Amino acid sequence: MLTPGPQDLWFVPLGGTGEIGMNMNLYGHDGRWLMVDCGVSFDEPLTPPYRNGSSEGGRVQVVAPDPTFISAQNEHLCGLVITHAHEDHVGAVPYLWPRLKCPVYTTAFTAEVLRRKLAETGLVDKVPIIEVDPDAIVDLGPFRLSWLAITHSIPEPYALKITTPVGTVLHTADWKIDAQPITGKPFDPQRFRRLRDENILALVGDSTNANKPGFSISERNCYDGLLNTIRPCKGRVVVTCFGSNIARLISLARVAQKTNRYMALFGRSLLNMYSIARKTGFWPDELPLVDPAHLGYLPPDEVMAVATGSQGEPRAALGRIARDSHPQLSLDKGDMVIFSSIVIPGNEKSVASLLRQFAAQGITTLQSEDSQLPIHASGHPCAEELALMYEWVKPQIAIPVHGEPEHLQAHADVAKATGVKKRQVGLNGDLYRLTPLTSIRRQVIKTGRIALRRE
Ligand SMILES: [Zn+2]
Ligand SMILES: [Zn+2]
Repeated sequence: MLTPGPQDLWFVPLGGTGEIGMNMNLYGHDGRWLMVDCGVSFDEPLTPPYRNGSSEGGRVQVVAPDPTFISAQNEHLCGLVITHAHEDHVGAVPYLWPRLKCPVYTTAFTAEVLRRKLAETGLVDKVPIIEVDPDAIVDLGPFRLSWLAITHSIPEPYALKITTPVGTVLHTADWKIDAQPITGKPFDPQRFRRLRDENILALVGDSTNANKPGFSISERNCYDGLLNTIRPCKGRVVVTCFGSNIARLISLARVAQKTNRYMALFGRSLLNMYSIARKTGFWPDELPLVDPAHLGYLPPDEVMAVATGSQGEPRAALGRIARDSHPQLSLDKGDMVIFSSIVIPGNEKSVASLLRQFAAQGITTLQSEDSQLPIHASGHPCAEELALMYEWVKPQIAIPVHGEPEHLQAHADVAKATGVKKRQVGLNGDLYRLTPLTSIRRQVIKTGRIALRRE
């Protein structure tokens, strides 16, 4: 068994490094471990929608990292911190917690998302969830944690500062610089600039868009783009987006209000997220939604539907609307379907099939990739944003995570260009020895993916 000594600070990714999805990170010091995030991924591209509305096909495997390395020694695991409520960070908790059996620390919005997931698996009273005040300092064994507000594409994203007697790590989790994020406070660089005086040993961070130049666009620009796209529409408008993007939902509700449309949500995950946003105070009271059943009675130019299924999932609301088998909404020639999302690699075929179904009915579609105006904004930092973060924090070591190998390498190149002396680029199952600083030990920890369920 690999055990970190009192002079060691180790980082071990079990998931999310060398791939996008199912993040699971471990920090080790003085015989104890801390886990950061515990997410899921989808194992295979969606198969094309089935014919004739049959219930076969279109299934996808939900997978999680194999946690055996840490679950076999869970008495040494001080706790699990969830940085934010995206599926690739929180989704595996209901499945893996029985093997981890540790307290879970997170902030209010993420805690509410997690509680609802646990309720579905009967674990809600078993898992100790500690709701953290983001201004607090929490000691978990030898790890001292503080939460740093950041901006991303879901409420309450946080970076973590993890301090041990032998070194401090900034674990950025998912982030971007958004000066006008629609929900939550604008990005504030002050807190990150102050880290420069704290001699940060390593920055472990998001590589998703490291190979894209420049800056990500703000949610505010995306709102303007959606408004100007939807304003001239004469028929019904259906928008599909990622359900957890509360900021986007708020933008769409504002667009509906400005364009005299009534907005309703189609799809369980959207309704669930909306309900959480209301409960946790993220939904503005002045933006009421209507019951989906009412949209069918309205003139087309007063209809705005927001639907799940941006990746072409045949059983999601948009797939049913495309096959004209949705009980509450039927589209006609001249209506418009807007993809306020991107096609996740692997889903091109299922999305193309959805587009064909709409085209065959004379329904116009607009994908963000083809739009002249910004109608989708990524939640991850592009190269210039990464460079700024490195200039503020000035860590000794850069550790790219949350990306495929090409993203990790692009991230390391940005770090190098900003003057970071050491970059450690590795994969799940590697042991990164941050102090004493030595090279990565490759593939010394068994990893893999385990199947959780089919969707
Ligand atoms: Zn995220
Ligand atoms: Zn993520």
